This record gives sequence, structure tokens and C-alpha cells, in this order.
Amino acid sequence: MTYVKKEFRQILYLADKNFTIPNCFHRFILKKEKSHNLIIKSKGNHCYCTNCKYEFISKSKINSHIKCPNCKQLLLIKSDRLQRYVFKDNLQLLDKVDNTFVLRTFELYSSYNNLSTNHVVTEFMRTIIKDNRSYDFVTNQVHNNMGYMYIAHYQKFEKWRTRNYRWAYRDIIGMICPYNLKNMLKDTELKYSQLDKFVANVDYIDFIYYFNNIAKYPSFEMLVKLKLYNLAKDADKFTIGKTFKEIFGLPKPFYHFIKKHNLDFRELKVLQVLQKENISLIRKLKDYHNLADLARYVDLEVAYKKVLSNQANYEHEYLDYLEACANLKYDMHDKKVLYPTNLAKEHNKVIKLLEIVFNEKSDELIKERLTKLNKFIYKDKKYIIFPADSVESLIDESKQQHNCVKTYIKKYALGKCDIYYMRELSNIDKSLVTIEVRNQEVVQSRIIDNQLPTKGQQDFINKWQKKILFNM
Ligand SMILES: [Zn+2]
Repeated sequence: MTYVKKEFRQILYLADKNFTIPNCFHRFILKKEKSHNLIIKSKGNHCYCTNCKYEFISKSKINSHIKCPNCKQLLLIKSDRLQRYVFKDNLQLLDKVDNTFVLRTFELYSSYNNLSTNHVVTEFMRTIIKDNRSYDFVTNQVHNNMGYMYIAHYQKFEKWRTRNYRWAYRDIIGMICPYNLKNMLKDTELKYSQLDKFVANVDYIDFIYYFNNIAKYPSFEMLVKLKLYNLAKDADKFTIGKTFKEIFGLPKPFYHFIKKHNLDFRELKVLQVLQKENISLIRKLKDYHNLADLARYVDLEVAYKKVLSNQANYEHEYLDYLEACANLKYDMHDKKVLYPTNLAKEHNKVIKLLEIVFNEKSDELIKERLTKLNKFIYKDKKYIIFPADSVESLIDESKQQHNCVKTYIKKYALGKCDIYYMRELSNIDKSLVTIEVRNQEVVQSRIIDNQLPTKGQQDFINKWQKKILFNM
């Protein structure tokens, strides 16, 4: 048995003595039990509700959900050939003992057999919440099967033990009973947080994360009061702004749309860019990351339909392509440019073209720079140092040295750094040392494979720096 610390042992002991199941939790269980039922369909579209035993005719298909016309419960339809079916849900209750909060977790286990469902509820975990930390304890009914947890409802409760984290339990989350929360929180800093209303409007949550963290943000109360429950899950991201526009990045008339569809944070981000009340498009676009950048060039609705919805196309590639087209001064109103039918092919084409154009321009700039840099040429009997004289030579140097000097083309062309080659006079076409200079100072010198120069080479570089660079 895992050792339980004395202070927790005391709390668990008191809890066992004092805890009951409040009526409101019975009500909560009952409500969830109703959802653990099926509509059983047999010949002639004959349907039977295992919740209220009502019989009716429906053409709805097996494995779809329908509302029972009698009890109004939304239930899954199964065939009458079904032998057995199991439902499991974690239900949670916040309780308190000796001024310490304890989150109690129960499993509601329902099994269908022969036109009826049977429900059992077992409390299998208690989480002591203390000083913003939580400590889980499980009962002897909790077992591990190949890393998955299961609750042996048929076993009797005997004792509590520390939850063993070596077992690959998924983090245990649940649906929390909202009815007693307001009362539980009345003397705490969360008394105005609206956490009870939030809980009543969401499904499975990691309650302790909200209890210890998210619900403490002033924005949480504001978002729940606005009935924006999914946004309240990210209340920590709404810490700036006073007006609706400042807080949500959208004009106020969008509020009804946001509330109606219970937008989450990512959907809100899409809406900010899209500025259109199109929920199906918003949901399709919510997994993209560069929408704001894409929207500078294209209509997102058309872009989704013609380019992004094709699984073979990647958004980064698309953005890359559009930026290249803009740089090449293509007509950015031409639909053929904006929405290419073969993105991969067009992408490669414009990127290559852009490189050629870019290299031509850089080459001109480098030639201009040489008029100034050529006065730093230096040589002795063995070595010579001279400025990189063309884009082509930079690409060649890069190839010979296996370094990334090629990526310096733009910086060099724009005068943000100077690139020099040091070579042996007897073999002047062969790369030896690549030197980067900034503000008349050598900041990097590398021989092949990014190695440092030899002592003799370094001495020559130092001499050059001292005699020529520093004195100009
Ligand atoms: Zn019914």
C-alpha cells in the first residue's frame, strides 16, 4: 500500500465520517442516468425507449440520435439484435471537510441488457485541494488494466490510497454537479466568479484547473455573465480592454452571433479576421494559423473552397506562394493568380523565379558595394583577402565550404554586413576562409565545414584587421 501523509489521512478519515450524498447530487445522477439509455429499433420501424418504456414508430437510422417523443431524452438508436451496451461517465461533487475542499469523483456505470438499463454509481476518487495544489486518492476498487483504469463496482469499499501516477491513467476529468457550488464557494475568493453557472453549461471539464486558476480571472465572471461559456474556458486570454471592441476585437453587433454559437477562442480568432457571420466556414477555418496574413491577399471563403480544402495543399505553402506573387508584382486581383489549381507546382515556379529576380537585384547592389570595399583588399606572398564580388561567387563559396554564406546574400547586398574571401594566391579559385565583417570588425571567420581557421591563417586575418580595416 502507498503511504498516505498524516494530514491527508486525517482529512480522509473525517470525510468518511462526515460526508453524505446530498440530495442535489442524487438529482444530478438521476439526470445523467436518463442519458444512459437507448432507443431500441426492431422490424417495421418499431422503436422502444429504455428510459420511459414508450413505444413509437420512427424512420431514423440506427446509430443516429433522436429525441424520444415521450420523455424528450436525446438517445442513441440501436438495433434489437444488440445484446449488451455499456455507458460510463465521471460525475463530480465539490465537498468540504474541516475547511478543506475535496473534489469527489464517481463513476456512473450503466449496462443495457434485454430492453432495460441498469445503473450503478461508485465513488472512486477524492482529490484534496490545498494551497492551490491537488492530491488524488483512490479506493481499492480502482484497478489498472494495461494502463487503462477501471472501477470494479462489484467490490466493496475498503480503503483509500494515494493515486499511483506510474499508471498511465488519463487525467481524470468529469461532469461536475452545479447545484451546490454557489453555496460551497460563498466564503471564498470565487464567490462572485459565476463558476456554478459556468459548470451548468459545459460538459466534461478539468474542474480543479478552473477552481485554482481560470475562474480567478475577473474576465471569467464577465464572460459567464455574457453567456459566452466556451470563451470563459480561456478567460486568461481576455485580460486587456474595456469596451466590447477592445476585449473581443470585433464590433458589438457580433455579440449575438458569438453567444448563439457559443464560439470558442480559436473560432473567435477566425471571426476577427473573417468579419462574417458564417459558422460553418468559421469551424472549417479554425485549425489554420495564418488567416490574418492570407486575408491580406485572398477572400478566405473562396480560398477555402478552391485551395485550402484540398488536403494536398498546405497553408504555409499557400502564403509563401502569395507573398512571392506579390513580390513579383503579379496582378493580385487576378483569380487565377490568387487561387491556383495546382498550388505545389505554381509555388515551386514562383519561388524559383523570385530567387532569380532577387539574385539579379542583389548582384547589382553587390557590384555597387565593391567600389567601396575593394580598397580593403590585402595580400602578402601567400594569402589574399578580397570582398565577395557577386551572388554567383557567394553561392559557390557556400557550396565549397559547406556553410550558409548563401543566406547572407541579402544582408551583404544591403550593406548590413561585409563578406570577404581569404585565399591562397597560388590557388585563388579555391575557397579557404570565409570572413564576415561588421563595422570594420571581423565577427566570424570559418574554413570548410564551419571550422575555425588555423593559427597561420588567423595571424594573417588579425594583421589585415589591424593594418587595413581599423585604419580606414
Ligand atoms: Zn422515452
